[in-house]
Amino acid sequence: MYTIKDDLTTTLQEIRDAGLWKDERQLTSPQQAHITTTKTSALNFCANNYLGLADHPDVLASASSALQEWGFGMASVRFICGTQELHTRLEAALSDWFGTEDTILYSSCFDANGGVFEVLFGEGDAIISDALNHASLIDGIRLSKAARYRYANADMADLRTQLEAARGARRTVIVTDGVFSMDGYLAPLEQICDLAEEFGAMVLVDDSHAVGFIGDGGGGTPEACGVADRVDLLTGTLGKALGGASGGYVSGPAEVVALLRQRSRPYLFSNAVAPVVAAGSLTAIEIARTSSEARATLRRNTALFRELMTEAGFDLLPGDHPITPVMFPGEDGAREAARIADTMLDHGVYVIPFSYPVVPRGQARIRVQLSAAHSEDDVRACVAAFVTARQQVTGQEPPKES
Ligand SMILES: *Cc1c(COP(=O)(O)O)cnc(C)c1O
Repeated sequence: MYTIKDDLTTTLQEIRDAGLWKDERQLTSPQQAHITTTKTSALNFCANNYLGLADHPDVLASASSALQEWGFGMASVRFICGTQELHTRLEAALSDWFGTEDTILYSSCFDANGGVFEVLFGEGDAIISDALNHASLIDGIRLSKAARYRYANADMADLRTQLEAARGARRTVIVTDGVFSMDGYLAPLEQICDLAEEFGAMVLVDDSHAVGFIGDGGGGTPEACGVADRVDLLTGTLGKALGGASGGYVSGPAEVVALLRQRSRPYLFSNAVAPVVAAGSLTAIEIARTSSEARATLRRNTALFRELMTEAGFDLLPGDHPITPVMFPGEDGAREAARIADTMLDHGVYVIPFSYPVVPRGQARIRVQLSAAHSEDDVRACVAAFVTARQQVTGQEPPKES
C-alpha cells in the first residue's frame, strides 16, 4: 500500500544527509538579551530584537491593558467585524511616520508581500526584482501575472539592462529589500530611484530589517538613503524591531491602499491582527519614533563589536548595520563556522552559522545581530566567546598586540 510516510522518511533523511536540517531550540524565557533554553542559558546574539522592545515594560503594559479593554481576539477579518480603533490608529501611526498617504495592516509581512503584487501588477506590467530579495517577495511576485525580471544583487548595470528589456510595459516596478539579511548591506536606493525615474518605473522597498532603527529618525532605509519621498511603496514587519510580535504592512498612495483593502487576498481572507498586538505595536512605534536613545545604544554596540572583532583578527563584511556577518571563507568554512557556533553556545553565547545554499558556496558565516538590549559587557562577552571558540576549534590565536 502506498504510504506518504515512507516517502517522506526518505526526503527527511536526505535533508539530514545534506547537513541542512534545522533544529529548534526551545526558549524557557522571554525574548531578551539573556535567554534560557531547555538545555542552557545564553547571551542571545541572533534575534531581530534590534531595539530591545520585545519585552519593553511600556510595550507589555499597553498590551496588557489592551487585553482587558479590547479582548483577546477579533474572530473576524477586517471588513466583516474585525476593525477596532486600535487597527486604524496603528495604520495612521505608520503613515504619519513614513510620510505616506495611507497604510494597510496584514498579519505578517509575508502576507503583505504575498498580497500586494497580484492586485497592482497584472498582464502587460513588469516586475523587476533583486536576486537576493526575501522569499515572501519572490512568492508574492509569482502570484502576479506580470512579466518578471531579475537583476543581480544591487547591480545597477544589470538593473538598467532589465529595465531596458521591460520597456513598453504598462506599469513597471523595481522591488528590493531595504537591507539584505545575510550581509547587512543596504540597497543602493538613491541609484535605484534615479533609474526608476529615468525609466518611469515605481519603487517598492521591503524594509523589514531596517524599519525602526536605520536612519536618524528610525524611518528605515529610504530615510537613511535620503529618498523617503521617492520610494512609492513600502512593505515591512512589526515582527522585528517594532516589538517583534507579528504583523506587517503596505504603505503608500491612498488609492493603492484602498484597492488593496478591496482586493488583496491575505487581507480579505485572514483574521485581523489581535488587539494586544496592535496596542503593543503602537507603543513600540511610539518608542522607536520618539526616543533616539535605543538607536544610539544599538549603534554603539555595533561599532564596539566590529572594532573588537577586527582587533581579534576576524574577517567581517564591511558596514554598520547591526547584522554583522563574521566570515569563514573557503572549503572548510561551513564546518568551521558550525563548530565555532556550537562551541560558543557552550561558553554561553548563542549565534547562528549560515552556509550554502542560504549563502553562496565558500562564503559561510556566523551572522551576529546586535541589539540595544545588549550591555557593553554583553558585547565584550560575545567577542571573548568568539576568540575562545576559534582557539578551541582551529587553534588560531588573536594577533599579538603591537
Ligand atoms: C522578516 C522578513 C519578512 C517576513 O516578516 P514577517 O512579518 O515575519 O512575516 C519579510 N521580508 C523581509 C525582508 C524580512 O526580513
